[in-house]
Amino acid sequence: RESTTNLNITTELSIAGIQKQFGSFTALRDISLNVQKGEFVCLLGPSGCGKTTLLRIIAGLETADSGTIVQTGCDITKASAAERDYGIVFQSYALFPNLSVAQNIAYGLKGRAQDKARRVTELLTLIGLPAIADKYPAQLSGGQQQRVALARALATSPNLLLLDEPLSALDAQVREHLRTEIKALQQKLGVTTIMVTHDQEEALTMADRIVVMNHGVIEQIGTPTEIYQHPASRFVADFVGHCNWLTAHAVSEHRVRLGESELEISHSTRLKPGHECELFIRPEDIQLLPNWRAGEQLALGKLLHMELIGCVYRLRLSVALWAGVELEVVISHRELAQLRLGDGQLIPVYLPPDKLRCFMPERAA
Ligand code: ATP
Repeated sequence: RESTTNLNITTELSIAGIQKQFGSFTALRDISLNVQKGEFVCLLGPSGCGKTTLLRIIAGLETADSGTIVQTGCDITKASAAERDYGIVFQSYALFPNLSVAQNIAYGLKGRAQDKARRVTELLTLIGLPAIADKYPAQLSGGQQQRVALARALATSPNLLLLDEPLSALDAQVREHLRTEIKALQQKLGVTTIMVTHDQEEALTMADRIVVMNHGVIEQIGTPTEIYQHPASRFVADFVGHCNWLTAHAVSEHRVRLGESELEISHSTRLKPGHECELFIRPEDIQLLPNWRAGEQLALGKLLHMELIGCVYRLRLSVALWAGVELEVVISHRELAQLRLGDGQLIPVYLPPDKLRCFMPERAA
């Protein structure tokens, strides 16, 4: 009973069984999600998976065909966008071009002029742009405009901040900078935030929890670490981060045959002996050893290709013993130096049992 009470106190938004059709097309299918007070949740998924539609339903800009939305105990399923009064920031900055920054931010504020002016000053300080009150949107950079849009969304101290791809129109450097700023601001204010993005890096760095969506359904809800390290489906594993996929056959619950080797998988699985399964391992989890040693999970890989990608190297190797599988491996400069690679050299490859995961063809094992 106590835990139920706690859940009610800390739950800001409770979405249950949301369904949405556009004609005969099902955009959202049985979406259920609880968002806690102060939490930063990212809706992540490929184009067309339904994340914007879900955000618009939460905002009250779109109506669901069925399902309910409850905010801190009140059923708001039928409430209009104006009644909900959430702060919203869209991908395109959507500032009024004919209004100054101060007028844009004060747009939704009610009350006396001097109170509004004080609030605008407060918000401009909060977004780190105290001196731009009298400028017009066209005089600002994309990053500055998006900060102003954020200030406008926060002006009325909404219970919920909704962000629809707020960074996708910005160039990479500004985007990365603003990512950190928005996250810091959100934590400082403690405002419950739901952000739509198709950028996995954005979701991994900003979210407390990520909701991975595909074809109108939720594939997985989890912290960034859970989603990255323990993806619940092949789709999630592929969409968030890079993976190597190896087709193997189960010989017992924790062992599989890959080519001429047997490999151990530490994670508990529901493998059925004799059945085909898909092993997956992240490129950075594969170990390349400077010297050969006898043991399990080891084979010699032939270097096919190597490239520098910023602070790490990406290598491609083929492993004859493991049915000629091609592996992508990511290693640091220091690891590369230890390998002393030469042309066509064979490199010992080790697959740690605790880093290998196994999926049955459709769902996580
Ligand atoms: P993107 O990142 O490209 O915006 P998304 O995941 O946000 O994608 P939605 O915009 O929610 O996807 O759209 C989900 C699906 O519903 C898409 O196939 C889209 O074409 C369709 N859709 C969205 N709005 C409408 C509408 N008003 N009428 C008909 N179909 C729509």
